[in-house]
Amino acid sequence: MKCNPALLRLTRPTVKSRLLRQLLIPPLIILLMVGIGLVAFLVSQSNGIRTLSETGERQLELHARTVESEISKYTYLPSLLELNDSVSQLLLDPDGGARQSVNEYLEGMQRRSRSRAIYILDTQGRVQATSNWRDADSFLGEDLSFRPYFQDAVRGQPGRFYGIGSTTGEAGYYLAHGLEEHGKIIGVAVIKVRLDTLEERWQRARLEAFVSDENGIIILSSDPARRLKSLQPLTPQVKEQLARSLQYYWWPLEELQPLAREPLADGVEKLTFPANSETAHGEQREVTYLSQTRRLADTPWHFTLLTPLQDLRREAMVQGALVAFAFALLTILGIAWNERRKVIATRLAAREALQEANAQLERRIAERTADLRASNERLKGQIRERRHAEQTLRQAQDELVQAGKLAAIGQMSTSIAHELNQPLAALRTLSGNSVRFLERGALDVASANLRTMNELIDRMGRITASLRSFAKRSDDGGQASLCKAVDACQQLLAARLSSSRLRIHRDFDEQRLAIDQTRLEQILANLLANALDATQDQPRPTLWLEGELQGERYRLQIRDNGHGIDLEARKHLFEPFFTTKPGEHGLGLGLTLSASLAAAAQGSLNVEHPSEGGTAFVLVLPLANPSLDTAEHP
Ligand code: ADP
Repeated sequence: MKCNPALLRLTRPTVKSRLLRQLLIPPLIILLMVGIGLVAFLVSQSNGIRTLSETGERQLELHARTVESEISKYTYLPSLLELNDSVSQLLLDPDGGARQSVNEYLEGMQRRSRSRAIYILDTQGRVQATSNWRDADSFLGEDLSFRPYFQDAVRGQPGRFYGIGSTTGEAGYYLAHGLEEHGKIIGVAVIKVRLDTLEERWQRARLEAFVSDENGIIILSSDPARRLKSLQPLTPQVKEQLARSLQYYWWPLEELQPLAREPLADGVEKLTFPANSETAHGEQREVTYLSQTRRLADTPWHFTLLTPLQDLRREAMVQGALVAFAFALLTILGIAWNERRKVIATRLAAREALQEANAQLERRIAERTADLRASNERLKGQIRERRHAEQTLRQAQDELVQAGKLAAIGQMSTSIAHELNQPLAALRTLSGNSVRFLERGALDVASANLRTMNELIDRMGRITASLRSFAKRSDDGGQASLCKAVDACQQLLAARLSSSRLRIHRDFDEQRLAIDQTRLEQILANLLANALDATQDQPRPTLWLEGELQGERYRLQIRDNGHGIDLEARKHLFEPFFTTKPGEHGLGLGLTLSASLAAAAQGSLNVEHPSEGGTAFVLVLPLANPSLDTAEHP
């Protein structure tokens, strides 16, 4: 049965490609898992940042407005002092005695406004009256002309300034206003407010925010550690200006450089700062923030809102991991489904191939059966023909045997005639003599003659009897006695034997052979006659009859020391009508008939050519069945 090549392809993928697939797929899946997880993480993070920045935008606006309102609520206060006469008096005449009342007025005003301090400077920048006149570190008499807010206000511009107080060392927001009298600035009113409340509010709300000034220095921060740190490197000019104005006194103003900075939009960036705490291993932690900055109205300051991205990052990581896991799960399910699909496909293909092979097999069986039937028919025909031929052959053989017999009779008729003439002549003489002896009364001689005559008649009877049996057509299937057959032959050829000096050596046992008696006699008579012919010119003609048992068969060798058979004659020995004998002496039927008679009895007749000369015929015949023997010969 031929295997379907398609099935072979399906069921036997090359070992190499399978190995390659098995080796490549797991790292590929892991790679894709990591990639997809990373993408999911990034997408989730960017979505989170977008949401956070939208929320932050609102928060930024809200808190920036709070800062703006906190700053602006004091804006009008210094200008109110313009309305106070004692303030004008003091500024116009510092030694006029109005100071005390102004001091007290300012003290009351400071208490009510909850500001840090309110004070009046003359045009030289010296403090003429102050709300903290009672305190030991009172500003009274101090020269603050170096302060930028004074310089602005004395020029008629609003003075805005955040700095550290030179006397108190305390940070605060200074708002200054130039006080006018008849269109001329006669002094400057300053109010110092503390903005710590904003910081406290942010801390309470757990908000991370800071306010930076125009130089990028953080002036207000929810985290005290960031306070008075510069967000950008300060140029030497700025540093000099700050030193001159003592804005931040002698504060070191270190740089607060973020570890990483990633601008996302206008006023929005991702900042990474070192955290205040350290890890268990002593490593510096990092904190990443979404930073949103907005300019504060009426000031050069910026308000920055910091939203920590830690939670968002963690959430994005979880989402990334979940997506990667889901991908891995789907991939595994996909592979399993694909494998199952392949197995089913292979099974289906195998089933189809099997069905196809079955169908093919059935077709072949049908073809072979038809062939066999045809050859069976042919064989039957041949058998019929053979049987017919066999029958014809057997018939021809029988006829040949008969013809051989007749021929032998014809051939032997001379010797038979001679054989019968002799006793007949003797009988004529003896009968004549007997008549005469009876007439003379010589009864003894006459009876002796009659006895001799009787013997002669018996002999003649035997000759004719054997001739009759020889000529009779008989079907084989009988049994024969070997000794009886040899005796009968010798008797049949007695005349020739007596004239030929042939010596016969009999070396065999009595055997009952499965052949008709007459047929065995006929075979032996032929062989004996041939031996007589072959040895007639020999000085000591001899014939050996030697027998031996061969299992269920008996082998009889008939050997003579005659002239033997030449090479050419050996080829045609058993052919009908082959003879080397001259004239009427030979018919060439003897050996053919003998061989066919032996074969008809399931035996054989063959010739051997002994090295010492002469010829040996080997007759092999089956032994007769003893039970039949007893039945027929009790
Ligand atoms: P025929 O005796 O009539 O010739 P056979 O068939 O009996 O016919 O023998 C054929 C020939 O075989 C004989 O002519 C003879 O040449 C040869 N032949 C047979 N028997 C012997 C023998 N014993 N020795 C030598 N030649 C033989």
